[in-house]
Formats: sequence, C-alpha cells, structure tokens
Amino acid sequence: MDLDLRYDKARGIYVLNGLRVMPLPKGGLELIQDYVGNILGLATKSIFEDAMATTIYSFLTDLAKTKQIKIRDDKRCEDELFSMFGGLGLGDIGIVSKDISSYSLTMDHNFNSFLGMSKSMTYCFQSGGLLIALYRLMLGKDVKVNELKCKTTGTSDVDWFELTILGDKKDYPYVSSPSYPFDGKNPNPDLEKVEISRSEYGITINSMPVEIVPVIFFPYLFGKLKKIIGMGVYGIQYGIGTTMSKLYIPYPIQNVASKYQVAGLDVLAPLAGVGLVKSIKSNFGGLQEVDVYNSFNALHIDAETEKRCYLLAGIFTGLSYLLLGNNLKLKEIDCSSVNNSFCKFSFEK
Ligand SMILES: [Zn+2]
Repeated sequence: MDLDLRYDKARGIYVLNGLRVMPLPKGGLELIQDYVGNILGLATKSIFEDAMATTIYSFLTDLAKTKQIKIRDDKRCEDELFSMFGGLGLGDIGIVSKDISSYSLTMDHNFNSFLGMSKSMTYCFQSGGLLIALYRLMLGKDVKVNELKCKTTGTSDVDWFELTILGDKKDYPYVSSPSYPFDGKNPNPDLEKVEISRSEYGITINSMPVEIVPVIFFPYLFGKLKKIIGMGVYGIQYGIGTTMSKLYIPYPIQNVASKYQVAGLDVLAPLAGVGLVKSIKSNFGGLQEVDVYNSFNALHIDAETEKRCYLLAGIFTGLSYLLLGNNLKLKEIDCSSVNNSFCKFSFEK
C-alpha cells in the first residue's frame, strides 16, 4: 500500500488513506506509557499491549475493508505490513527466524524505545501489541508475544521479540476509525498531500520526527484507564499533555506555523492534527479563549457525554510559553462530546 497522508485544513486533521490519524512527536507513545507506568506499575503491560493490539488490528481491518491492503497469510502481505509500519515511523521490523508455532523478530527505530529511558525490565509493551495485531490479522490466530531483549535495559541495540502462535480465534475487539472518502487516483484537492520523509529517527513530516498513530488509540486507551482508575484518568491525561508538549521544544514549530499560515496555539492543528484550533483574542489583543473543532480528544467510543479533552488542555498549557511567551494554564470549559459542536478552552491566570 502506498501511504497517502493528507492534511485537511478545514478540519485541522490528518487523514491517511481515508482514515483519521495523528502524527505525534516521536517518543510520544513511549512517554504516555511511561507516565501511566509510574502510576499503575505492573498493570501497565497488559493495558498498553491491548490498547495497541486492538487499535492497530481495527485500523488494519478498516484499511482491508476499503481494499487498501489485502490480508492473507503469505510473505508478500507480511512485507507490505512491515513496510507500512516503517512508513508510519513505528519501527522497522525484521524476521530472524520462524517456524509453524513461533517467530523471532527484531524491531529497529522502535517507537517504544526511542527516548533513551533506562528500565530494569523489558519495556516495549506497545510494540508487542502491534506485532500481536499484525499476526492476529494475517493468521486469524491468537498470538502471545514475549520481548526477549530490550534497548531500555541496556543489553541490546535493537528490540527482540518472540511470538508464539496459539489457536484459531474468530473475533477480536474492534473499534472503527473515523473515515473520509478516499480515492488515491483522484484525491480531493482540498486535502493537502504531506510528504513523509525518511530520517535517522525513522520518519519526519514537516521536518519533525514523528510517529503516526490511528486517532482511535486515544479514546480506547483512556476509556480503558477510566474503567480502572475512574476520574483520575483526567489528571493523568493533563499531566501527559504538559509532559508530551516538551517533546516539541527541539523542533522548528515556527516553520510549520508559517508554512500553514497560523499563529500561536493554532499551530497544533497542522502539527498534530488535534482538530481545527482557533484562538479568540480579547479587545486588547491578548488570548482570551481557544476553540477547537473536531478535537481528537472528544472522540468517544462509549456512550458517555462528558468534558474529556484533558490531554489537549495539557498540551496547550505545556506549549503556551513556547508559542505565546506566557505560561498560561488552559482548561476546557465546554466540550463537543457534550454539546456536539466544538470544544472551548479558557485559561486560569
Ligand atoms: Zn472537548
């Protein structure tokens, strides 16, 4: 499959071959896992492995439904999926050996071991989930993954995984991705093509190292966390947002802002496809409020309506000094998850 990434300026979102995705700063997913891991400890492994297995499985299923990829149990399909994950900046997968019941694989430029963290145990739970998704889909079987060597423990330059193929299974949890009409031959001219470039980090877009993830990852993960820890999930999201925003500091955000002709916090739209961001100024020219349309954080896969864009509020807060020169604490005062139209953020002085 040719990866076709487009920026939808009217919606402030990224669409990959017809499905909504988000380019996160490289290391973003690892940072989310680390943040949650510091709070939940051992439970983190199963949560993140499942979040990635389910959302990547769902995403690939949706690509197969629209005939972007063809799923079968053969080497061509495997190569195509490996190349796709490499192209999304998630890592370069290689086969070391395989037989009927087990595979040995490596992952280089792995998104899950990018930040140079030091851990005493193997740590690439999300990469494990990604491998589970891939082989669940290809083989139609359950897969167990074990990380043998991990960069974060300092014992290897590359991450090594062993997969054990279990029995047949028909159904896996599935979450459908928000989809948009897509015709690779006659693309919608309103959607701007965005080049994905190869780099020493994996990939870059707009000269920034990124990892491209299905937008459904967030509601699935946070919905799961909410079942475990209740309302505490909102504080965690906010903390992740302020921490994750620091990943942008080394990169030329201002170039992205001028390329897309936006200023201040509005750059979050072309930067990460968070949704269309519109700053509202006061009569004196200061920032008064920020409206967001199509907030990724308001997407919900459950029936609850509630203010939920705490991750986005954290990112705004974390980036306010870098983009506006003031430390502003932004909080959401109204959410499209409740009012069906847009999210409104205001700040506390
Ligand atoms: Zn919201």
